[in-house]
Amino acid sequence: MAKIGFIGLGNMGAPMARNLLKAGHAVQVYDMSPTAQRAVEADGATGCALHTDVARDAEVIISMLPAGDHVRSVMTGEDGLFAKAPRGCLFIDCSTIDVSTARDMESQAAEAGHLMVDAPVSGGVGGATAGTLTFMVGGSDQAFARAQPILEVMGKTIVHAGGPGNGQAAKICNNMLLGISMIGTCEAFALAEELGLDAQRLFDIASKSSGQCWSMTSYCPVPGPVPTSPANRDYQAGFTAQMMLKDLKLAVEAAARVGAPVPLGSAAAQLYSVFVGLGSAGVDFSGIIRMLKGEK
Ligand code: NAD
Repeated sequence: MAKIGFIGLGNMGAPMARNLLKAGHAVQVYDMSPTAQRAVEADGATGCALHTDVARDAEVIISMLPAGDHVRSVMTGEDGLFAKAPRGCLFIDCSTIDVSTARDMESQAAEAGHLMVDAPVSGGVGGATAGTLTFMVGGSDQAFARAQPILEVMGKTIVHAGGPGNGQAAKICNNMLLGISMIGTCEAFALAEELGLDAQRLFDIASKSSGQCWSMTSYCPVPGPVPTSPANRDYQAGFTAQMMLKDLKLAVEAAARVGAPVPLGSAAAQLYSVFVGLGSAGVDFSGIIRMLKGEK
């Protein structure tokens, strides 16, 4: 069993750390929120007074933080985890962050004599709790081989997406497509309503035709056709509009850096920005259909 440091015990990090504990790993944890930290200590983790304490004798350090700046601030500098961890430590950053920061972090980890992978997730809090997350992993073959058995404790599908930063690249490309396809699906159902076409009929036809996509068949934005979708529970998240906006912004920023045209990704980011601005940050991202129908 490994000695694992874990930093960032929010909605995702806490259940992930609990699954490591359940599998018998020794987990030392830190969160800047004492309440969040105490909740995981109560399940058997060793609490740390400082973020650098998670590095003490650690073989693996996992981070699950809000954004790139948070990751940079805990990893780098004289008081950062790269400087404090025992040489040869494996860093697994599961946060969703920008590709360029992820690549810079991997290179600074290597300079300090460590291995690092970026391993953003899909599957949400439900997947984190059940240990069924999908991890999209960027890093060397050696780093991936060491990370895989640890990630398998917290997830079901572990995919090596290529070199450093490619996990984040996979995540934002996927979520940009998801944001675009959700808006397209919402527009189709809103138009159908105006044209007098029943939502269930459109679903029955389009889910077996060329317009078929996950946003429709697994996460339909109108109540009825897919009983498990958030549309059936007043768009309770799920995956919030705020999170979709975060990922779309990361995609648009990454595209601008490399000069890749993403006109639909940009439009999706703008629409979600308006939706969030209307007070819908915590609403499920499929709830954007209400705004597109002029209801909000
Ligand atoms: P969260 O806000 O619930 O948790 C983040 C935690 O990090 C908080 O407890 C906060 O106190 C802690 N933190 C922030 N800065 C810190 C620091 N410097 N040192 C120590 N702790 C610090 O967020 P979350 O929902 O758990 O998401 C974490 C990451 O996972 C994000 O990058 C998010 O985009 C990604 N993600 C979330 C979901 C989801 O459904 N929640 C799904 C996929 C990916």
